[in-house]
Amino acid sequence: MPPRHLADLSADERRVAVTELGEKPFRAKQLAHHYFGRLTADVESMTDIPAASRARLAEKLLPPLLTPVRHLDTDKGATRKTLWRAHDGTLLESVLMRYPDRATVCISSQAGCGMACPFCATGQGGLQRNLSTAEIVDQVRSAAAMMRDGEIPGGPGRLSNVVFMGMGEPLANYRRVIDAVHRICDPVPNGLGLSQRSVTVSTVGLVPAIRKLTEEGLQVTLAVSLHTPDDELRDTLVPVNNRWKVSEVLQAARGYAERTGRRVSIEYALIRDVNDQPWRADLLGRKLHQHLGQYAHVNLIPLNPTPGSEWDASPKPVEREFVRRVREAGVPCTVRDTRGQEIAAACGQLAAEG
Ligand code: SAH
Repeated sequence: MPPRHLADLSADERRVAVTELGEKPFRAKQLAHHYFGRLTADVESMTDIPAASRARLAEKLLPPLLTPVRHLDTDKGATRKTLWRAHDGTLLESVLMRYPDRATVCISSQAGCGMACPFCATGQGGLQRNLSTAEIVDQVRSAAAMMRDGEIPGGPGRLSNVVFMGMGEPLANYRRVIDAVHRICDPVPNGLGLSQRSVTVSTVGLVPAIRKLTEEGLQVTLAVSLHTPDDELRDTLVPVNNRWKVSEVLQAARGYAERTGRRVSIEYALIRDVNDQPWRADLLGRKLHQHLGQYAHVNLIPLNPTPGSEWDASPKPVEREFVRRVREAGVPCTVRDTRGQEIAAACGQLAAEG
């Protein structure tokens, strides 16, 4: 794991840490204001802190965490993928997507992933390590700074949304992800001040962790990567299904929905001749209606083919029929746009090439 960083710590912990370094407790708030409010980790710019203290505080609380290796832009600059190198050489990626009405950053919670879904590029390489809370938060801080500084065409703007849909299974790095959500959503200067409702945590369906999340009292959007309504196929598409079945996952999702009053986003990568049959659309609609009632929303993702895989996206007419049938069952269903395909920044493509 990386050295301890300001963004790993709560406000109380930051005060303790600063005091232990022989500094006045209020320095913690100054540092937090620079990092979370001004979105900078550059100590030289923190001129309200005396130079000697600055050096000491920077060394112990603002160690460099993520260095950009390169940026790749596409969609006329509205989509930017960044490849980051961590202190130990670990590579990870995040993707910033600007839309007319919002800007979303897709962030990684782990380097690699241990869930081994066969259609996902990240899943093929296995898990390298968990990211620290600060490594997660710093991806968001950088995206917020890029937006503010007008680095994405369209002039200066504001980062509005965060999705944990980059590399990794967020609920397999539970504590650090929850702490990161607090840092991302707590008001400045304690955090970056985004709304919890505009943060989405996406999971393969780790049932005990979904139940735990339900008890956190958060308002984040839960996304469940279902990909098929039947256990037989899901056992192969999402191997963790061998441990927690579709009905258990949907029941846990319902618990989350009822507690928070939030609709759950059901992710479904549509794969040609694999999970796109009309009968599966009907079964999906029925099961979601039965388990989640009004709380379900289906997000279809045209499969983004990974190198070396024979799988492909479904033809558009098949996709349209699938949407129609799910909606007919009374479940809202939309097709996600596919940003960043040319730069391998689309879903499941974030396997850093080095
Ligand atoms: N591990 C978490 C979050 C990361 S992936 C999860 O599985 O939910 C975010 C979404 O992209 C998931 O729904 C995942 O199944 C989907 N995905 C992965 N590879 C994909 C691909 N090649 N094409 C389309 N969607 C993909």
